[in-house]
Amino acid sequence: MNEKELLIKGNEYFVDLAKKDIKLENSLNELVKGQHPPVLVIACSDSRVSPEEIFSLGLGYLFVIRTAGNVINEGELASVEYGIEHLHIKYVLVLGHTHCGAIHASIHNEKGKYLDPILNRIKKNILDEKDEYKASEKNALEEVKFLKDKFKEYDGKIEAAVYDLETRKVNFLE
Ligand SMILES: [Zn+2]
Repeated sequence: MNEKELLIKGNEYFVDLAKKDIKLENSLNELVKGQHPPVLVIACSDSRVSPEEIFSLGLGYLFVIRTAGNVINEGELASVEYGIEHLHIKYVLVLGHTHCGAIHASIHNEKGKYLDPILNRIKKNILDEKDEYKASEKNALEEVKFLKDKFKEYDGKIEAAVYDLETRKVNFLE
């Protein structure tokens, strides 16, 4: 099976599943009318950290923005604004994770053609931290600070957490 076939097969399964599961079908029909997600998550693009999976939430609950290293640049900031101003989401979570390739690349000064906006941003967040777990925490906490500064009037909560791939636990940071 090639990559596209994989996607087509997965979607066919989803379409069939909704036909067989009345509760799922009803909730998907409800979502056609509009979205009211209670939570906005800024997560890493890493394929192992899908917020919908690790929080056991289906469609409609999470407004998700994903970038390598869960950093917020221009486009991501616009998406956050949309989520909190137009969808009125009252809880924002910046979710880092263990074994993060972007954190690793920043610590080890890796280079790429277009990676700079992400790697420089992480470097600025973690400074000279070499421990990858602590760096993930620091990176997420600094992004929280950044958001709080950008949305000073926001009356919801903005918090950070780190998902641990080994224990599968999300540790919320203070
Ligand atoms: Zn990552």
